[in-house]
Amino acid sequence: MEELKGSRFAHVTKAHPCFNEKMHDKVGRAHVPIAPKCNIYCNFCTRDINQDEIRPGVASCVMDTDDAIEHVENVTKEGPIAVVGVAGPGDSLANEATFEFFEKLGKTNPDLIKCMSTNGLLLPDYAERIAELGVNTVTVTVNAVDPEIAKDIYTFINYNGKIYKGKEAVEILIKNQLEGIEKLSNLGVIIKVNSVLIPGLNDEHIVEIAKEVKKRGASLMNVLPLIPLNKMKDYPRPTCAEIEKVRDEVEEILPVFRACTQCRADAYGIPGKKSEDKHLGMTPASHY
Ligand code: SF4
Ligand code: SF4
Ligand code: SF4
Repeated sequence: MEELKGSRFAHVTKAHPCFNEKMHDKVGRAHVPIAPKCNIYCNFCTRDINQDEIRPGVASCVMDTDDAIEHVENVTKEGPIAVVGVAGPGDSLANEATFEFFEKLGKTNPDLIKCMSTNGLLLPDYAERIAELGVNTVTVTVNAVDPEIAKDIYTFINYNGKIYKGKEAVEILIKNQLEGIEKLSNLGVIIKVNSVLIPGLNDEHIVEIAKEVKKRGASLMNVLPLIPLNKMKDYPRPTCAEIEKVRDEVEEILPVFRACTQCRADAYGIPGKKSEDKHLGMTPASHY
């Protein structure tokens, strides 16, 4: 299995701008904003529909899956898109459209790398379905593996139709994230873990996350600076030195992806090339 995972990793990451820093300014990804619903409440998150902000959780519209397929057709004609991802603006697994979309994409564009990002709450339930759909890479955002820390990052989760709060909520979330990563990785899906660095809260803990997710089969980590919004608007934005320090510590455990600039849920084009990184609101509506 290790050997198989190794060869899949090399094959996929050779062309994936979010798993290979050398490709971040060479090949493109297209996010299709088809997943508006979310099933947890991260205290730093503000989802929005707008044309201007460059950050996760933002898109200029929500598409249905047919429009998303048409969008992929258009953008693959425009430039070298290697990857199609579902990255919100909510949680990919909380939206049935994500599965419907990948099923359609597997028929229309079987050669594109299929990617999604998730908070991981539903990963144990959906790991098999994700692998069966041929999704190659999944990014799971894990901001704490200690409930004492996690309880200050999340307000609630909505799991199996029930709202959980406080420690009870984060214990379920952490358990599912770790179980889900293990399950998916055993099914041959390549996993990157994103952790949002929140100064004074999880900055000294991210290295523990790295150890735990490595045990479960994650291949890569991405440490992202907090964008102070919503209930965390008064937290400081981490400095470059703080981020670098944590990335260096994590790198002792797992490879670290350092080129991420946190893009929108409707971004497309080449992420590391400013002139060729676009998002939906930038193009005239008549184009679609
Ligand atoms: Fe926002 Fe993503 Fe957290 Fe949902 S999982 S609340 S979309 S950051
Ligand atoms: Fe990259 Fe994440 Fe989008 Fe996948 S979902 S293409 S890893 S930004
Ligand atoms: Fe993915 Fe970050 Fe690159 Fe966007 S900037 S494509 S989120 S790695």
